[in-house]
Amino acid sequence: MNKAELKAEIAALKKRHKAVILAHNYQVDEVQEIADYTGDSFALSKLAASITAEVIVLCGVRFMAESAYILSPDKTILQPDIQAGCPLAESINPEGLEAKKKEYPEAAVVCYVNSSAEIKALSDICCTSSNAVEVVNSLKEREVIFVPDKNLASFVAVYTDKKIIPWEGCCATHNEVTVDDVYKLRNLYPDGVVTVHPECRSEVTALADHVGSTNQIIKFAKETAAKKIIVGTEIGTLFKLKKDNPQKEFYLLSRKLICPDMKLNNMAKIKDALTYMQHQITVPDRIRKPAFRSLNRMLQVKMKRVV
Ligand code: SF4
Repeated sequence: MNKAELKAEIAALKKRHKAVILAHNYQVDEVQEIADYTGDSFALSKLAASITAEVIVLCGVRFMAESAYILSPDKTILQPDIQAGCPLAESINPEGLEAKKKEYPEAAVVCYVNSSAEIKALSDICCTSSNAVEVVNSLKEREVIFVPDKNLASFVAVYTDKKIIPWEGCCATHNEVTVDDVYKLRNLYPDGVVTVHPECRSEVTALADHVGSTNQIIKFAKETAAKKIIVGTEIGTLFKLKKDNPQKEFYLLSRKLICPDMKLNNMAKIKDALTYMQHQITVPDRIRKPAFRSLNRMLQVKMKRVV
């Protein structure tokens, strides 16, 4: 089946099953092209909870499909490639988090949405890279165990007077960016501006002109007067950046900014997902209910910045 035939087949299957396709900004271009909505994990979480479709094809990684199910258990959530996981989410398990909670019994637990349903269930509240600062500052506790991303934890620590106790996990993709990459690209494009994701190391975020979630990077790129933008997040984001700003030039901060898990989905797998209703992601109620509480509490936190 060629690309046009695949596209037509997917459109017919979507109609038959009352399905929508949600794609993360890190997905390959062909997936973003056919998606009904694209966005970062915060945007996709909100969409999954609000749209009326019966079937959601979640093109991202496992924790995103789980979040969609946690928020919308009445919908069928399909993950086209069942192997798509997240090394950051897998860096923490429930036993490890329980031990940390015993060590700091007074602390609240904030978990980045890039975590398993079990970790969300054991946390007080979730956050995304868009709202991590607001979520932490919304808590009454003075101490916060922040899991699982140590880099996002360092970023949050700059904007709060609470004691942040980080988990030592990191994103295997964003953590690869170095200060040398920033110096190199700034030398190549001295009139460019550098925008990076807070999953990058703190020494990298400290050198950037702007730090934000994928959606915030997309917004920044639209609003900045700069014509050359050096981007420190996953390569898939360039699809939307270039589409939104054809008059601007974008340069990836490092060639290592490719998440292999995010590249596993494609059009053929989406067609199979809708044909065979595979792979359905569910979460048992004993985990879903407390995880829902953590996600829902996050959705209630007022944002000062646009996300
Ligand atoms: S980019 Fe990083 S945090 Fe996102 S899915 Fe890949 S490994 Fe996980």
